[in-house]
Amino acid sequence: MNTNTTTRQRILTGDRPTGRLHLGHYVGSLQDRVALQYDYDTFIIVADVQALTTNFDRPEALAHDVRQVTLDNLAVGMDPDACTILVQSLVPAIAELTVLYSMLVTVNALRHNPTIKTEAIQRGYKDLTYGFLGYPVSQAADITFCRAHLVPVGDDQMPHIELTRKIVRRFNDLYPLPGSGEPVFPVPAGRVGRVGRLVGLDGQAKMSKSLDNCIYLDDTPAEVARKVRQAVTDPARIHASDPGHPAVCTVFAYHQAVNEEFVPELEAACRAGCIGCVACKDRLARVINALLAPMHERRASYLAHPAGIDEVLAEGTRRARAEGEETMRRVRQAMRIDYFSLDERAEPSVLAFLNAPAFAHSFVP
Ligand code: ATP
Ligand code: MG
Repeated sequence: MNTNTTTRQRILTGDRPTGRLHLGHYVGSLQDRVALQYDYDTFIIVADVQALTTNFDRPEALAHDVRQVTLDNLAVGMDPDACTILVQSLVPAIAELTVLYSMLVTVNALRHNPTIKTEAIQRGYKDLTYGFLGYPVSQAADITFCRAHLVPVGDDQMPHIELTRKIVRRFNDLYPLPGSGEPVFPVPAGRVGRVGRLVGLDGQAKMSKSLDNCIYLDDTPAEVARKVRQAVTDPARIHASDPGHPAVCTVFAYHQAVNEEFVPELEAACRAGCIGCVACKDRLARVINALLAPMHERRASYLAHPAGIDEVLAEGTRRARAEGEETMRRVRQAMRIDYFSLDERAEPSVLAFLNAPAFAHSFVP
């Protein structure tokens, strides 16, 4: 296990604390972050400010949801001794970078972002707030505050990663570090999991908590079995012996996501009408429950000491703040806005700067 934080590349990824995490989150992003956490210095952001872009009128839910999302990450197997889990709103560098990056992004680029468009339609927005339209800019700040190299995400996030890459390239071009000419940021790469987008139980749109079509990671075995039984399958298939069309079947998509080795056999059996939907669903429910069982165990052990969740968040956020300060030191230097130091020893030179004729005169009309 390589845990040397100075030599490893960095991952930044995370979730909005807007409710429980579901199977879509797992196959889209959590699975990869768990697998990669010892190979990369991994930062998991609990994106509470981004949650406010859609939930600004429900701030009271955040205190619970921030812990819920953290617990979900710990339950799937993120190791708090190996990764850094942080609260977005407590890392000032993210807010600062968001403002600085906003100069490098046009309003049109944001308006034409396909994910923004889809989400705005799904939520029935007629007009967009500045914060919602601009959340991809704040995501660029999330990714770069720790100078990350890799971002494991679902495929809906790829337009945002593309924007981050553009912002970073533009920033590095405009503002190389004085002296060395080195870029401040690596250009980060997105990484979409094996299943970029898991469909919801309704078979209509992606699995999404706002669409109420989810299998949640903390669903009980009975809930999973019930939900799978109700999942939409091939509508043309009435009898078990009718030939099925796996490409249009939600249950088949779930087998592909969580039961890969069974897929060739299942596909042939379904097309030939040799396996009925009930048997296929029972088998799926068993596989999902086997996947969730160790997560339930870990969840229960963390819940036995809930104060430990806050400790994980506080420690991670502390480390993230230090990392953010280091990034801002480089950013200020590169942008030539490192006018003076504010630490105490430097106080006289601050006064000297403020009293300098050139500065005073700049306000004289
Ligand atoms: P929801 O739509 O359920 O409210 P969300 O989109 O707000 O979820 P985020 O916190 O924005 O959730 O997403 C966290 C990560 O999970 C992102 O990388 C996103 O791409 C991924 N993700 C979310 N839903 C799915 C899905 N159905 N299939 C694959 N990946 C997904
Ligand atoms: Mg989202």
